[in-house]
Amino acid sequence: MGDREWSRSHPSYPVRKTSASWNSESVIGLVLPTPHPPLPRMREYFIQAAYLTASVLFILGLKSLTRPEKAQRGMQQAALGMLVAIAGTLVHHDIVRYDWIIGGLILGSLIGYPLGMFVPMTAMPQRIAISHMFGALAATLVGVAEYWQHSHGNGVGSAEGTAAISQGKMAALGFEVLFGALTVTGSFMAFGKLQEILPGRPITYRGQNVINLALFAATLGIFVYLIFNPGNAVLFYTMIALAFVIGILLVIPIGGADMPVVISLLNSYAGLASAATGFAIGNNVLIIAGALDGASGFVLSIIMSKAMNRSFGNILFGAFGSVVTSTARSVTGLTARSISAEDAAMQLGYAQSVIVVPGYGMAVAQAQHQVRELAELIEKKGGEVKYAIHPVAGRMPGHMNVLLAEANVPYDRLYDMDDINPEFERADVALVIGANDVVNPAARMDPGSPIYGMPILNVDSAKNIIVLKRSMNPGFAGIENELFYNAKTSMLFGDAKASLAALVGEVRNL
Ligand code: NDP
Repeated sequence: MGDREWSRSHPSYPVRKTSASWNSESVIGLVLPTPHPPLPRMREYFIQAAYLTASVLFILGLKSLTRPEKAQRGMQQAALGMLVAIAGTLVHHDIVRYDWIIGGLILGSLIGYPLGMFVPMTAMPQRIAISHMFGALAATLVGVAEYWQHSHGNGVGSAEGTAAISQGKMAALGFEVLFGALTVTGSFMAFGKLQEILPGRPITYRGQNVINLALFAATLGIFVYLIFNPGNAVLFYTMIALAFVIGILLVIPIGGADMPVVISLLNSYAGLASAATGFAIGNNVLIIAGALDGASGFVLSIIMSKAMNRSFGNILFGAFGSVVTSTARSVTGLTARSISAEDAAMQLGYAQSVIVVPGYGMAVAQAQHQVRELAELIEKKGGEVKYAIHPVAGRMPGHMNVLLAEANVPYDRLYDMDDINPEFERADVALVIGANDVVNPAARMDPGSPIYGMPILNVDSAKNIIVLKRSMNPGFAGIENELFYNAKTSMLFGDAKASLAALVGEVRNL
């Protein structure tokens, strides 16, 4: 009888059990999973080699992603790594039936393909939140399945089976389902806020932080209890239910403006849950990929908090991000000056130095190609063009870099905030294209503003400022921007792509 026939007749234990040739030593430097029946050695080598290759590709992918010009290659390396990891897993001896896997692959592809192809760049944050939700759901379900397998799978009584789970394994399982479950609901709430299905403002009530902390402490207490008493299935499932509730409660007091940081933090949690899954089921590639995901998500959260000049504690418990206009300095009585494309072109065409400041509006208008075209014309006329990139411009980290790279804007023209800020005072024109919050001087000057303290691009130091947007509407944070009423500022109203096309035509005719 082959492995497969044997396991069909013994559904509780999928593969034939003999004592020969089982070896728990490491293969290619990686520790093998928890004891399983003997495997054909070649198959085990293949699996471990696939996992090692996948892990290396993940690391190379992450490294490439640190440089915009190599980012595309990074994504390809990571995707190839995932393919290799899946191929390795598909020959794993624990798999005895492929019908469910094929069904899952088809279903996953049906969901994933449209998500990847048709969701616009502007909706990327909520798409990422949903992806994290699926990842965390998978980790949670694997944890539940593993626990259930212990209680039912070996044909022994429920309590007996789970009571036999070792403390180390129970710690990994508990961690996995705890972080997995809170990431599922937390990500879903973040998605709802960004998609505007839920109110973007912080939802707060009296004693909220105390209640959240008490609930978290109680859940943590159950987790610790389960490590020493793994047989208590009721508490195991109670812990999962509480974690689902915690995910919701953690995210509702956080405002929409802070969602990017929350999403990258949840990304980190999903990674940690996956790493714990790896420990629980003895899968090396999950441990490595989960650790990479957990660490990179955490580092990204720190970078973004810094860019917003906020501490983690303030973001998680400070109920920031509401659409506040009452505390911001009023701009009533001030009037903005509009400009025609022809006049704006005169300023740009004869400028020696222009700094382009792209923002979310450039992404909405998909105006990056027209931006490059305009910059090339200005350069032909002897002007110098630089691009100022704010770390949270747009709706996802690196949003502006990706768009400008797509339009073949040379990387050496892109400047980080700290490098470009001192240059604004020497710039003849700062051309603001659909940026708002990241150039709002209230962040520097108005202690009453919700974005006070957030580092911004010092556009107001430039000699002349031209702003391209459609109206006087506020940006993501929902607050007024005094820059638009500055005596040096001219507003060129209209869709950024159309305005830039008009500017290109006018500058060409100069
Ligand atoms: P903002 O959201 O502050 O402003 C964008 C501006 O673009 C709006 O004022 C809008 O004005 C204008 N706009 C929209 N569509 C068009 C169009 N078709 N043509 C011309 N203008 C247009 O963007 P910023 O990039 O300045 O700031 C990013 C904000 O998003 C920050 O508050 C940041 O915290 C937040 N955020 C950042 C994320 C990230 O990771 N980068 C993720 C999520 C949020 P009008 O309607 O009048 O045209």
